Amino acid sequence: MDENIPERIMQKILIVEDEPDIAELVSFNLQRAGFSTITAHDGIAGLDRAWSEEPDLIILDLMLPGKDGFAVFKELRRDSRTSRTPVIMLTARAQTEDRIKGLEAGADDYLTKPFSPKELLLRTQSVLRRSADTPSPTRYACGKLTFDKNSLKCFLGKERVDLTSIEFKLLLYLAERSGTPQSRGDLLRHVWGYSEDIYSRTLDTHMKRVRKKLGDDAGIVETVRGVGYCLRPPS
Ligand code: CA
Repeated sequence: MDENIPERIMQKILIVEDEPDIAELVSFNLQRAGFSTITAHDGIAGLDRAWSEEPDLIILDLMLPGKDGFAVFKELRRDSRTSRTPVIMLTARAQTEDRIKGLEAGADDYLTKPFSPKELLLRTQSVLRRSADTPSPTRYACGKLTFDKNSLKCFLGKERVDLTSIEFKLLLYLAERSGTPQSRGDLLRHVWGYSEDIYSRTLDTHMKRVRKKLGDDAGIVETVRGVGYCLRPPS
């Protein structure tokens, strides 16, 4: 680690790789180049670290025990915390089929093992540079609902919906997945970060408040019995 780089401006890279030697090698080389690194050795742990630490870039091995890299990637993209995090995929399989599948799925780059640490570093730097040039959209619209992610303001048509930050997060999460029912477990996990649903009353309490604030449009958030909630885009 370069001691001249203060930790707060160091970019954080998550390495999801089940082979300890490779994880170690990648981590060592990135640290030496001034990055801070975190590692996870399977897909589930990788998702947990990605959502709790919100890294600047993820290096994702495709052949992982349990949940494979493609499945992990899909979940990363579906979650607002990681939907835009650049991902470099790693694989031992040299087939072009995997490469195409990876790039089509939206991976930012792809490396086939064995790769040189230098190549990995160059790719990492170039992907990070590219992503820094692309400003992330701060507004999200779903029917007449609009969200400003910077100011955490939500509007229904021209009317401001005065949401707390957690209510904003909850409604945005549902809006970004509108038309698809979201389970209570997913909502608790993604909005509050709970892995258990012992606090599931919290969800209902917040939803009640959100609906109240939506006034005449309260019905856009539907209760899906036995599942959770679903937002129908308000027209
Ligand atoms: Ca592997």
